[in-house]
Amino acid sequence: MITAYIGVGSNQGNPRAQVMQALAELAELPATRLAARSPLYGSAPLDAPGQPDFVNAVAAVDTELSAAQLLEALQAIESRHGRERAYRNAPRTLDLDLLLYGEAAFASPVLTLPHPRMHERAFVLRPLLDLDPRAEVPGRGSARELLLACAAQSVERID
Ligand code: ADP
Ligand code: MG
Repeated sequence: MITAYIGVGSNQGNPRAQVMQALAELAELPATRLAARSPLYGSAPLDAPGQPDFVNAVAAVDTELSAAQLLEALQAIESRHGRERAYRNAPRTLDLDLLLYGEAAFASPVLTLPHPRMHERAFVLRPLLDLDPRAEVPGRGSARELLLACAAQSVERID
């Protein structure tokens, strides 16, 4: 059994409802238990001025799925939410990122762990710290210290 953390984000089509529905779907994954979810946060889009704000959360799951199986399951949930990527950083109905899978650290063509951009995203680090104040990002350091370096990013609790 491995503890994994999943980043959930949406800025299209009732983002709050998309995020809550995605959390419910994570709870239904095979061989997986939804252990906890963070509060919801609102965040301004990075690198994409003019887009609607995001709703973000992080979920902790205990799973017997492999990291690859878990990523596939996350992508299946994304597709059910009608995600279409017209261009890089396009608005998305639902983004599910596999942030951490135990202490796994590797890069394959389809999966990089830890998630390659999580350490510089306040909307990931802040809810991750709600779930585990001592969270570590392998190869990057403590989530707490990483968040301090993201002070310029606006993230606020919305529930
Ligand atoms: P981002 O979430 O950083 O904005 P995308 O969701 O558009 O980027 O990226 C999706 C692609 O990233 C997928 O093709 C997937 O294979 C790849 N990927 C690599 N590592 C991960 C990971 N840890 N979690 C989710 N997707 C990943
Ligand atoms: Mg993603």
